[in-house]
Amino acid sequence: MKFLTVPTSTRIEIVDITDKLREMVKNNGWSEGIVTVYCPHTTAAITINEAADPDVRADILETLNKLVPYNDNYAHIEGNADAHIKSSLVGSSQQVIIEHGRLVLGTWQGVFFCEFDGPRQRKVYVKFVSG
Ligand code: ZN
Repeated sequence: MKFLTVPTSTRIEIVDITDKLREMVKNNGWSEGIVTVYCPHTTAAITINEAADPDVRADILETLNKLVPYNDNYAHIEGNADAHIKSSLVGSSQQVIIEHGRLVLGTWQGVFFCEFDGPRQRKVYVKFVSG
């Protein structure tokens, strides 16, 4: 298993990690198989969505904030209950097919790390299985 380090700079943000993943695929000589991109944090997540227009990321965050506001009548006393809920809604992992040494993504797709309780230094686990 390999890992990426993802520093985040605000409480809530979506960080494009596609280039880091492409670099990892290339540097490790991964050719044919599947890569699992896994977030080992309870207040962050991984998603795949449009990488071309950054407004899409902004809309996703704004909508998540409407659905799960920072302040509500939460039982969790740490003050980051919204981040835990957002993490579960978005999900902790994604899988991407690798063919001919390249990530197979749609033209407009990118892989994103979603920070919901930053800023922090985060890790993303990456496991390649050939096949
Ligand atoms: Zn918490």
